Amino acid sequence: EVILEAVDLEYSYPDGTNALRKINLQVRKGEKIAILGSNGAGKSTLFMQFNGIYRPSSGSIKYQGQDISYKNKALIELRKKVGIVFQDPDSQLFSASVYQDISFGPLNLGFSEEKVADRVKRALTDTETTDLEDKPTHLLSYGQKKRVSIAGVLAMEPEVIIFDEPTAGLDPRHSQEFMQLLEKLSIEGITIILSTHDVDLAYSWSDRIAIMYSGAIIAQGEPGELFMRT
Ligand code: ADP
Ligand code: ADP
Repeated sequence: EVILEAVDLEYSYPDGTNALRKINLQVRKGEKIAILGSNGAGKSTLFMQFNGIYRPSSGSIKYQGQDISYKNKALIELRKKVGIVFQDPDSQLFSASVYQDISFGPLNLGFSEEKVADRVKRALTDTETTDLEDKPTHLLSYGQKKRVSIAGVLAMEPEVIIFDEPTAGLDPRHSQEFMQLLEKLSIEGITIILSTHDVDLAYSWSDRIAIMYSGAIIAQGEPGELFMRT
């Protein structure tokens, strides 16, 4: 079952930069997809389309078969279903304390204090940050900020989570811990898309890989398919 889809998607920035060219990509429910590509390939721009922050210049984004690219209400719905964890956690943490930060999203959705507390608790457990609950966000280490920014997205209970370069700059141990967290989320049924320029990581982790170059997808398939034949 296809959950998220880009159809002939094109996007140009206001300054004329052609960042996405005829992107066709289907993301299936529960799948782990890696978008592989160097800096400037268009990975982040594609993600902003997948979560409705940018609108296509042409072509469309479909969520569960529905074209949502030009419908305001559907775009708002999309932002609840598709969460993004940005590379820099500082761009994602706004509130004074960890608890406040994670509860911001669900509070905004209008849930009761009790339900919000429930969701925050679960997100803290999943990201192993329960002991940080009362900490001021500005006192967290980089690794802790990263976890808390993920917890904030988890508390929204999205169906799809996009991770922009999640392991960039992490040492091997933290990188491995992070991949274990992703595995846990995947087992819970969350569809995961991540971008990376780490070929080994894409190869070992993903169900499917799309390789981007200069705004286009130049190859996609299962890791074995893509890398076995030379
Ligand atoms: P990646 O995430 O793969 O590094 P990006 O999606 O950030 O790639 O960038 C794709 C292209 O769009 C690059 O040429 C980049 O310079 C350009 N770009 C990114 N953001 C903007 C912007 N706000 N305005 C104009 N061009 C941009
Ligand atoms: P923890 O407290 O979870 O052990 P740390 O903040 O000490 O986390 O480090 C987590 C990882 O993040 C390490 O791999 C470290 O190299 C990396 N790191 C620390 N600061 C930054 C930064 N500003 N940008 C990118 N990576 C960073």
